[in-house]
Amino acid sequence: MTALTRTDRLGFLEGELKDLYEQGFVWRPRILEGEQRARARFDGQEVVNLSSNNYLGLTNHPRLRESAKRAIDRYGAGAGAVRPIAGTMTLHRELEEKLARFKGVEATLVFQSGFAANLGAIQTLMGKGDAIYSEELNHGSIIDGCRLSGSEILRWPHRNADALRRLCKESRQKYRRALLVTDAVFSMDGDIAPLKELASIAEEFDLIFMVDDAHASGVLGRGGRGSADHFGLHGRVDLQMGTLSKALGAMGGYIAGSKNLIEFLIQKARPWLLSTAHPPAVVAAAIASVEILESPEGERLVAKLWENANYFKQELKKLGFNTGASETPITPVIVGSSQNAKELARRLFAEGVFAQEIVFPMVAREKARVRTIVTAMHTKEDLDFALNAFKKVGKELELM
Ligand SMILES: *Cc1c(COP(=O)(O)O)cnc(C)c1O
Repeated sequence: MTALTRTDRLGFLEGELKDLYEQGFVWRPRILEGEQRARARFDGQEVVNLSSNNYLGLTNHPRLRESAKRAIDRYGAGAGAVRPIAGTMTLHRELEEKLARFKGVEATLVFQSGFAANLGAIQTLMGKGDAIYSEELNHGSIIDGCRLSGSEILRWPHRNADALRRLCKESRQKYRRALLVTDAVFSMDGDIAPLKELASIAEEFDLIFMVDDAHASGVLGRGGRGSADHFGLHGRVDLQMGTLSKALGAMGGYIAGSKNLIEFLIQKARPWLLSTAHPPAVVAAAIASVEILESPEGERLVAKLWENANYFKQELKKLGFNTGASETPITPVIVGSSQNAKELARRLFAEGVFAQEIVFPMVAREKARVRTIVTAMHTKEDLDFALNAFKKVGKELELM
């Protein structure tokens, strides 16, 4: 080979991709044409949208739009610096103060995303010689944060507080500090962690207690204040991670907790320190979201979300579908094989219903499913339309 021969140093990717395709699941993102709404247009087709996390319809709320536009006029399109140096604007502080009041905590710190909040907080707080008790179905951003921390990771089985207690009994004394971390609402199953029991275990074994409220922000608790509020655990959860990207309709994540916790993250959390601050429009939209949630309108939206969620889940069950242990607006329709899930999703889309198939390795091989997410914006007509499609296709595929 002469020096001038061009070699494709990425040639191996062809083989890697081939392996991926043969394993059976590849992402081919559908393209949303227009707004993220209950009825939306994906890949040129009008569908009832059961795939977004826009739980309260806030992504297109007039107040968020207006606030974002005003912020651009007043503050420009970008922040132009990282938060610790010159990128902290009055808007960023206003959002953090509003969030702290909303959550009933001393302080909050906003990160660029929920992913960055989990990664930054866990990696900063924990280190070598520490233990992290991590629930087996925790979100990837928690898992990556655990890995980056260099701590020992001890996994415990899904929602099994007894197994966690046993694990703590046999292992806790081997470590300096320890963190207990769990999703509040699990994104693939729509079930809820037993947070009361977990809070007691954290107290019994001296574990820092962290809860990921990505799918609980704007969904659980009074006016969507989250899982700690829902379970009456104020003061017993050390780190509440929340997102501004899903129900709150904007973008970002935050950690809510004590003054010292937030001050420590400001000094040390790498995604916050090293990546540029949110643009003003995003921050202003998030502020408007929190204001809506604190108002009677917010309470109405959350109530409507739950009314829709309960109706849709109950009707799916009546049709004879397996919806697992779901208790939230996320309802899986568990159909067994990946093939079944893919075929169900494909035919539903053809009938005008967009619900994402979720297959191995996202869930266990024999628990492939189509995941539905309802929002406050769906009308009864939208939900009945979707239920009819489920009934028709479910019968054709003999899934009930
Ligand atoms: C979506 C999600 C995140 C990440 O939040 P973003 O704000 O979208 O980055 C973290 N944890 C869980 C459980 C999630 O579902």
